[in-house]
Amino acid sequence: MGSESHQPIHVFFFPLMGHGHLRPTIDMAKLFAARGVKATIVTTPRNMPLIYKTCGINIDIQIIKFPAVEAGLPEGCENIESLTSLEMVQNFIKATKMLQQPLQQLLQDHQPSCLVADDFFPWANDVAAKFGIPRLVFNGTSFFSLTICHAMRRYEPHKKVSSDSEVFVIPNFPGEIKLTRKQLPNFTQQEVETDITKLLKEVTEAELSSYGVVVNSFYELESDYADFYRKVLGRKAWHIGPVSLRNKGAEDKAPRGKESSIDEHDCLKWLGTKKPNSVVYICFGSIANFSDSENCFSDSLLMEIAMGLEASEQHFIWVVKNGENEKEKEDWLPKGFEKRMEGKGLILRGWAPQVLILDHEAVGGFVTHCGWNSILEGVSAGVPMVTWPMRADQFYNAKLVTQVLKIGVDVAAQQWKRMEGDTIKREAIDKAVRQIMVGEEAEEMRSRAKKLGEMAKRAVEDGGSSYSDLNALIEELRSHCP
Ligand code: UDP
Repeated sequence: MGSESHQPIHVFFFPLMGHGHLRPTIDMAKLFAARGVKATIVTTPRNMPLIYKTCGINIDIQIIKFPAVEAGLPEGCENIESLTSLEMVQNFIKATKMLQQPLQQLLQDHQPSCLVADDFFPWANDVAAKFGIPRLVFNGTSFFSLTICHAMRRYEPHKKVSSDSEVFVIPNFPGEIKLTRKQLPNFTQQEVETDITKLLKEVTEAELSSYGVVVNSFYELESDYADFYRKVLGRKAWHIGPVSLRNKGAEDKAPRGKESSIDEHDCLKWLGTKKPNSVVYICFGSIANFSDSENCFSDSLLMEIAMGLEASEQHFIWVVKNGENEKEKEDWLPKGFEKRMEGKGLILRGWAPQVLILDHEAVGGFVTHCGWNSILEGVSAGVPMVTWPMRADQFYNAKLVTQVLKIGVDVAAQQWKRMEGDTIKREAIDKAVRQIMVGEEAEEMRSRAKKLGEMAKRAVEDGGSSYSDLNALIEELRSHCP
């Protein structure tokens, strides 16, 4: 690359304060730093320890105050994982808008060459423009979901069907992707403008007028959609992932910013007693599911999951977040469940060392909410998935897994829609888990998933597609520097 002959460029990273955004940003900053770029992550006091623990010495961290109280949030509420109601979400959005001024001051003080800011901060385009530097968007999702969002907005195929369950195909879009209104994120269907829909509109506009987008994906995974984004939509984009694959050793993979609810060694020891591909891992991401939201896990749904897992006769690790159910376990688990499942199933309450678990050879399947990091981790580990999306891009990521990559099955194809969450019954869970764990279909999906996992690893190695695209991005940023 000949980087020695240049002044190092300086990139500011400004992630949304949430685990699923902070974590890939840290990995991304490390990748840039490893290529001789000066990398600075901007965050707020409460999120600093998460970054500090995983970052290493070659990344600078800058802190700005988070105006929680000013926006009507409790003191110290600075992370999307601590939001427990829709009102708090709205206030959180309000607080993030107030970060514009302090970020501007930091840019003034440090004069970086580029700002990579989360898509949640649409105003970051204006901030970067004030200093004449490119603003890159990082939205932590797939090319597939980026492109499908544009196609949905442009053609509105969901408005041309007569019922929520009538299937439509996304027009002028690769792959003949079939959807129903029941399988769409809530915001696509809201007619009345809310703070959230307003923000999403601004996010789209800012994405289109930004310098370009950095995507945590690899070309081989979704080449049709990467091409579509660049060639048909005419947008600049760089695929540089899976960024988490830079964490190679167990120590690198284990803490990932939060303490696990189980000692990693105990978890690995338990997995070590199981046969290859015999354990299914169930986890619905990092965000608690609060009771007045669309994503609530009711007692009855948790009961269905438990019964479905038991009926499937598979070994399992099931992660239950505190927010999902704060009552004592006896209230929502079937009678005698934990006793019956001794040695067969592990329930982790709280935080799981997900990447370590998925990468273990005993794990043969993943029931996921389809957050993009989880999908990439599942792909990198080469495991088939049961898709159980709950919000936002997760609905589209699920379609990528089942319809395009063909490495997973829907938990209950017609019933994703959140309000009907409780209608997902144990029989559907049992069936979907068996489909990815046993039989010919499971083997075929596993074989495709393993191939993709290999491709993912190659993509980030020297000369791989993501490695090369990151080089290309750095060279382009360098060409902007004086
Ligand atoms: N994660 C984890 N342990 C948990 C829950 C989540 O390590 O118990 C990690 C997971 O590996 C992933 C991230 O948190 O990297 C969640 O990001 P994703 O995009 O999948 O979903 P989100 O939580 O943002 O909805």
